Amino acid sequence: MSIAADPRGYYALLGVTPDASAEEIKCAFRKKAKLLHPDHNQETDAGSRFQAITEAYHNLSNPTIRASYDAQRFSEEMDEPVTAHEAHEAHAQPEAHGLDVAPVVCSRCGHVTAQPRYIIFWQVISYIFLTMRYPVQGVFCRKCADRTALIASFKTWLFGWWGFPWGPPYALDALLRNIRGGDMPVDANAHLLRHQAFAFFLEQKFALSRDLIAQAMTFARGDMMLRQKLMEIQNAMPGEARIHHRLKRRWHTITWATLLQTIPLLVLAGTFLWLILK
Ligand SMILES: [Zn+2]
Repeated sequence: MSIAADPRGYYALLGVTPDASAEEIKCAFRKKAKLLHPDHNQETDAGSRFQAITEAYHNLSNPTIRASYDAQRFSEEMDEPVTAHEAHEAHAQPEAHGLDVAPVVCSRCGHVTAQPRYIIFWQVISYIFLTMRYPVQGVFCRKCADRTALIASFKTWLFGWWGFPWGPPYALDALLRNIRGGDMPVDANAHLLRHQAFAFFLEQKFALSRDLIAQAMTFARGDMMLRQKLMEIQNAMPGEARIHHRLKRRWHTITWATLLQTIPLLVLAGTFLWLILK
């Protein structure tokens, strides 16, 4: 595990990897908390270690906070060189410049994608009177996002709706969020896309880099600092790379996964209407 993927060591403290599920993080925290709880553990540093894992768990168990934490690895190189010459040097010796210049890969298939997104999908599991919402989050390519949404929605259909009383409303909320493509935290996506733009820039794939800058801009609307950094990358490109070929926007299209998730909801709504109008 690189330091960049775990900037404050939260994952390492709990003994899990950055792609751990919400459930794995919870189990790991419980195990460590039992061992380190000051009531049971007499070692002098048990108290401070207990505090440290509690802080780590507090940050990783909230999906939105976890998204911003994960995004920190994309914003580490805030002072990166941006002139073409400096970038060239940094590319030749990335370690010397302390840069993690590798493009971010999809957390599911491991492939580099020109249109990555940080997404939180939701699945709901009910145990009669207990209903739990689980986030499934990470960096996804469009294909993996579709698959992840579909699996989360399918599990919600199977196990989510029948809890009382929160099963149906939580399940409906999760299904609608997944159909819309999941939650995309603005900050995390802006930094992820800026990182990807910079990584492609260093690989001299200027057309892709330009396209990623355009994608990042849509997430960075209110962040003037970040917009400035994006413009700097763009301005450092050689003149002939300025001609822009826009990629097909993969996130703005409806896919088979959207349809597969929508149809059962429509059938349910239709049946419901038919029953009350009959
Ligand atoms: Zn993927």
